[in-house]
Amino acid sequence: MKHPLPLIWRMIPEKYYLMGSHCATCKNDFFPFRQICPNCRRLGKVSEKRMPTTGTVYSFTEVSAPPSGFEFEVPYPLAIIELDNKVKILAQIIDAPMEKIRIGSRVQMRFRRVGDDDEESAISYGYKFALIEDAASSAKTDKPAKTPKPTVSKG
Ligand SMILES: [Zn+2]
Repeated sequence: MKHPLPLIWRMIPEKYYLMGSHCATCKNDFFPFRQICPNCRRLGKVSEKRMPTTGTVYSFTEVSAPPSGFEFEVPYPLAIIELDNKVKILAQIIDAPMEKIRIGSRVQMRFRRVGDDDEESAISYGYKFALIEDAASSAKTDKPAKTPKPTVSKG
């Protein structure tokens, strides 16, 4: 039973952004996309808006009893992320041990394959978040390593 691929791709937001909505009346953003602003109802003027890809950890927990198909990842940190537009979403934090995660930690969205992808199951992607490293340990990030400042010899 293969998922028809076009459907899967439709579920991946354009260029890996999360597509939410913005209400021009009350200036609030919402995710996922809503046709009707929950604040303004009929008076809302709603349009599509890309959600920011950075935010902070609002709250987090350690999941040790995952849904089936995720057993191999146990335990993993699950967090409520407050995006930079105040929208809160639930997402897994990747590439970081629990001890490194703090409320208020800056995070960056990453799109990752979710779950199994053997021949029978659909390849699906989901958004996860990685800590934005603050100088210290930059082990496995996508970013290029910091280039050291050239030392200027005086005299
Ligand atoms: Zn509104």
